[in-house]
Amino acid sequence: MGGLFTRSIATDLELPRALRDASVSESEARSSRPLRVLGCPRCQKRLCALDREGQGAAAVWKAPSSRVERALFGGATSFKCRMCGQGRIAVEALGDAAQPDGEQGGGATLPVLVSLKATTAKGAFRPFSACVCGMYESVVARATALLQAEAITTTRQLNVSQHTFKRSELAKLSEDDLPKPPMELLVIAHKVSGQRNPITDQHGLYNNLLRHAWNRADVVILVLFDVPPGYFSQLLSEQPTLRGLLCAGRLLPLFSKDDTGEPTDAEANLESRKHEEAQASGWLVRCLDGRVPRHEGLPPDNAKSSEVVAALAGVADEAKEGTIAVLARVVEDFEGHELVRD
Ligand SMILES: [Zn+2]
Repeated sequence: MGGLFTRSIATDLELPRALRDASVSESEARSSRPLRVLGCPRCQKRLCALDREGQGAAAVWKAPSSRVERALFGGATSFKCRMCGQGRIAVEALGDAAQPDGEQGGGATLPVLVSLKATTAKGAFRPFSACVCGMYESVVARATALLQAEAITTTRQLNVSQHTFKRSELAKLSEDDLPKPPMELLVIAHKVSGQRNPITDQHGLYNNLLRHAWNRADVVILVLFDVPPGYFSQLLSEQPTLRGLLCAGRLLPLFSKDDTGEPTDAEANLESRKHEEAQASGWLVRCLDGRVPRHEGLPPDNAKSSEVVAALAGVADEAKEGTIAVLARVVEDFEGHELVRD
């Protein structure tokens, strides 16, 4: 595969300082509450998405079964880095993880219990790495606040960097202008306001950013703030790329109270920010964990977006429940797809 070759050049990358300084040992990562990321010893990207069963020193790692590779001769098992093809950590499969009853689809749990061998290195585990990009500092800060919601920070240790690009910079952006990997999540933050420029497709503001970010981060998501509910279907009908992103779980629309998209007064705003966090945090965790379908390039429109819009139309209060309704419809189609973490 061509992509594998270009990726293998970027081996032995040094971890950015903020991530390196916050890295911890395997035993600390396993026994302390927030989850961290097992980095590839060569390229520093996530070697394998891991969760845990049990607590404290008794906790055991859980991994996707597809990631435990067995050597052709000798039968030794390991995680091999899918990104650089070189980094490898030996593991021992301990058996199947418990599957809670009534588990929802979309890859909620990881099936195999494993113990990691030879991860005595002090900094084997680093924080999740996320980056928020946008045109306006206020909008980037608003998306960063979503990632710093308590619901996320109590369960994931997360390092968030912020970048703003001028419109003229976005127009001629190259991949080198983007923050360096590793990145589990890159958020493009955009506020829908009075003068509505195309976001993607012809003359789209974020065409370059989306295209380049897709190669850099495990998951790229476009967060749209203050979307007037009535405008959402128009937005999708005009911009096929948005339809593809939506159905691949890479579009997070946060709806405004009315169809003008005008901000409400300050007090209501604080309340609505809290509400915004509640609407977004579950999905952002899903993206951080790689529980969205894998796409090597920008996802094509799978023609399901009209059903997603119909789900929104069935909601009495779009501003309060719209995001959850839309995403619940989106996740129904994840079943059977290979996920980013698989
Ligand atoms: Zn690697």
